[in-house]
Amino acid sequence: MTVDPVARGTEHEPRVEAEVQRAALSQLLKGGPLAEALHVVLVLVVAALVWNSLPLALTIGWVGAVTAAAGLRTWWRLQLAQRAPSPEQALRGVRLTVAGVGLAWGFGAAAAIPALGLDEAALTLVVLAGIVAGATSSLVGDRRSFRYLLITVLTPLPIGILLQGHSRPQVIATLLIALFAWGMDRVHRRAYHTFAERVRGAVLLEASTQELARQHAYLDALIASTPVAIAVLDGERLIGSVNPAFEALFGYSAAEALGSNIDRLIVPTGLGAAARDLEARARRGEIVRVEVERAHKDGRHIPVRLSAAAVKAAAEGALVALYEDISDRKAAETAMRAARDLAERVAQARSAFLANMSHEIRTPMNAVLGFVELVLDTELAPEQRRALELVRSSSEALLTILNDILDYSKIEAEHLELEAIPFDLPKVVHATATLLAVRAREKHLELTVDVPPDVPHMVRGDPTRVRQVLMNLIGNAIKFTEQGEVDVSAAVVRCGAADASVHFRVRDTGIGIPPEQLATIFQEFTQADASMTRRYGGTGLGLAISRRLVALMGGELTVTSVVGRGSEFSFTLPFPIETPTAVAPRQAASLGGRRLLVVDDNETNRRIVRDMLGAEGVAVHEAARADAGLAALRRAAGAGTPFDLAILDAQMPERDGFALATAIRGDPDLAPTRLLILTSAGQRGDGERCRQLGIQAYLTKPIARADLIEAVGTVLAGTPSAGGGADLVTRHSIAESRHALRILLAEDNPVNQQVATAMLLKRGHQVDVVSNGREAVDAIRARRYDVVLMDIQMPEMDGFAAADGIRALPQGRALPIIALTAHALSGERERCLTAGMSGYLAKPFKAHELFALVEGSSDGPTPPAPPIDLEGFRSTMREAGAEEAVDGIVRVFAQTAPERLAALQTAARSGDPESVGRAAHAFKSAAGTIGARGLALLLAEIEGAARESMLEHVQRELPALEREVAAVLDYLSNSGASHARSPG
Ligand code: ADP
Repeated sequence: MTVDPVARGTEHEPRVEAEVQRAALSQLLKGGPLAEALHVVLVLVVAALVWNSLPLALTIGWVGAVTAAAGLRTWWRLQLAQRAPSPEQALRGVRLTVAGVGLAWGFGAAAAIPALGLDEAALTLVVLAGIVAGATSSLVGDRRSFRYLLITVLTPLPIGILLQGHSRPQVIATLLIALFAWGMDRVHRRAYHTFAERVRGAVLLEASTQELARQHAYLDALIASTPVAIAVLDGERLIGSVNPAFEALFGYSAAEALGSNIDRLIVPTGLGAAARDLEARARRGEIVRVEVERAHKDGRHIPVRLSAAAVKAAAEGALVALYEDISDRKAAETAMRAARDLAERVAQARSAFLANMSHEIRTPMNAVLGFVELVLDTELAPEQRRALELVRSSSEALLTILNDILDYSKIEAEHLELEAIPFDLPKVVHATATLLAVRAREKHLELTVDVPPDVPHMVRGDPTRVRQVLMNLIGNAIKFTEQGEVDVSAAVVRCGAADASVHFRVRDTGIGIPPEQLATIFQEFTQADASMTRRYGGTGLGLAISRRLVALMGGELTVTSVVGRGSEFSFTLPFPIETPTAVAPRQAASLGGRRLLVVDDNETNRRIVRDMLGAEGVAVHEAARADAGLAALRRAAGAGTPFDLAILDAQMPERDGFALATAIRGDPDLAPTRLLILTSAGQRGDGERCRQLGIQAYLTKPIARADLIEAVGTVLAGTPSAGGGADLVTRHSIAESRHALRILLAEDNPVNQQVATAMLLKRGHQVDVVSNGREAVDAIRARRYDVVLMDIQMPEMDGFAAADGIRALPQGRALPIIALTAHALSGERERCLTAGMSGYLAKPFKAHELFALVEGSSDGPTPPAPPIDLEGFRSTMREAGAEEAVDGIVRVFAQTAPERLAALQTAARSGDPESVGRAAHAFKSAAGTIGARGLALLLAEIEGAARESMLEHVQRELPALEREVAAVLDYLSNSGASHARSPG
């Protein structure tokens, strides 16, 4: 806001000039009656001087003229006061009256001088000179007035003088008068300039003083009305000034504040040092901005935002401090923090509640569903079966609703977290469809699943959520379709090196959705038609959840539908591709070059079989009807290229699969062709019928690619049979051909123990049951298992601790441990996996889920690792050049081991830890030497326990030790090492 003074000067110029004029005029008018009276006095003095020399009339005339001129001037000035003329008029008046007075003097003198003597004339001239000289100051405001006087007074004089005579004194006097006139004019000019400058300076000074005052007032108003409290401190921290906001904020009046030390006034006790530090920083040139507390006069602490800076121009080290009241903001922050904490607590409570509720409901549901499934697999009276099926469907419905509500709550609370784990995508799609196949079969719907071979197998993502969405869409499709088919497909739309986008589609031929409902069915609790709610059950949550889940996984769930024709739901998800594992898909026989005919009225089904087997190198031919199929088989046989296999759909219009099979088996030309029947409506007794008809395989739709390939391979590897006796390949036989596993089940709930045990036994596995973590660890130590199923919540030692214990054992390091938990919340799997588990299963689980995990986790019973690494020992000795000593050492070990064991047992019985430790130590060294690592580890543990005097622990380990010693000796005697070159 600084203003250039030069600019301001030019801007003020006219005003300044007017001011100069005004000052000049007032100066001109200043000489009052006294000046005029002085003229009268002077003319009377002159008259007295020349009284004797001049004629009386002339003297009186001169005196009269001057007196009249002075009087006129006085009169004019008096008039002036009343008329208030313009400055120009006033100036003109001054000039005229001055000229009048000048003329009276000048002509009077000019007339008088010729009659006067030289001395009298000189005196007269002196008087005139005095008048002119006096006018340089009395008429300083106007050059012209002065000049008028100069001319009127002095010009007539030379005339008078020269009329007196032309001698030298007259000439000199004339010259002197001229010189005097010139000089006086110079004097007046200088005086005038000085005067004008003085006036101009005064005016400018006045103007800048006013401007300064204005700016001061402006700044004062600014500071006074600033809502921020301001205090200016001097070098001693004394308050120099404060504004009203300061007074209002801290409660001190300006009078109280001024001159006080700021520390004493508003800095709370204890904060003095910090305040001085801030001051020092500000004085060093930093602009300090901090949030601190300052004290009000009443002692209350006020949170303020303090900004302080040194005032640069102030030489005495002034400091300006601004205090902004931030109480409101702080209060809002505190309230916000409290609200956030509360929300977090509520969310935590909600999560915990969800977890508990989930656990409490799922645990009994597990028992219900598991047993129902088991009982349904037995022979039952029709009513019993119907009742049990009702129990099962009701329980499943209940579980679905429970899951929906849990999911919905989780999504709402933004607690739903997706997992990113490797999984087999085609398997998930097939398994999901298989789960719902029963329902489709009950409604006589064709459920087809199409996952072409180019869909990547192992991808990374959340299989549970993919399954959940598909389950919901397929479930809806079946629910809302009365006849026709439900097609499920997954196809690659984009495949890069590291990731792929897979398009999922569930299409039905059901009732469809009216266009006006299409937009709303994805909303929570919305169903297309209220009347349908009665006809078709449901919560209206499924699609809402599915859509949110698909969105979370990076896709968008969309629908197209035509009322009466059907609906199609689809979405595309991106998946990172997992590098294929070393385990190649099992294949019973090479299928390349085989010829196959698929007879199925359903186009989609034919295409699926063609795609699945075509990718294996099988030449797949198709027939849409039984007649056409039979004809094709006969044609091929006639041409000498019979089909190796015919896949027949059991349900076909006119002639069904079984009828076709009967016809085929009735034709001896077709005997070499093996038969596989695919059904979507399995009936009891079908198996027997197949055996009688000479059908080699019987599978239910939808069929997973791997199962179909395995079944076809098995059938083609066997001999074609014309009936009876031969083994029928079924889904079960495929499964059973998988090896029986030895499974340890750690579960405290007796009902759940029975459920899982019954399922696993039925599947042909061996199961040992323990009911807490400690027993599980002991069992692993005592026996070899292929898989452990570990409940997480168990008394005494929970699943996590048990997994830790098992992992610490040599035989437990690589053992698959599958966690069982009723906490189906997200993050649970991660928790299990980080705790060292290899898999995770949420209760209640279905039998097939359990099997998939248990069998998937183990590639069959691995041959037990030899208890002794004899080869390792031998190669070590070879490197040392002492291979020939190996057999001797091993023989001695085999001979002495029973004694050593006996010595250890005796020592343990005697209760002397020291001798136990010694015996264990010696035995350990011997075992370690020959590579019996497991035995050495056990002995090390016993030695450690003995050193700690924990003899009961030693006792506990003894049975395991005996078993391990027996295993080592067994191995040695079987391998012949203990007898080799034995002298005996
Ligand atoms: P619900 O539990 O009722 O099945 P959803 O959210 O899964 O809830 O579905 C909402 C509504 O969308 C259903 O009630 C039904 O009206 C309609 N709908 C969903 N899928 C289909 C389908 N395949 N065919 C016809 N209508 C469908």
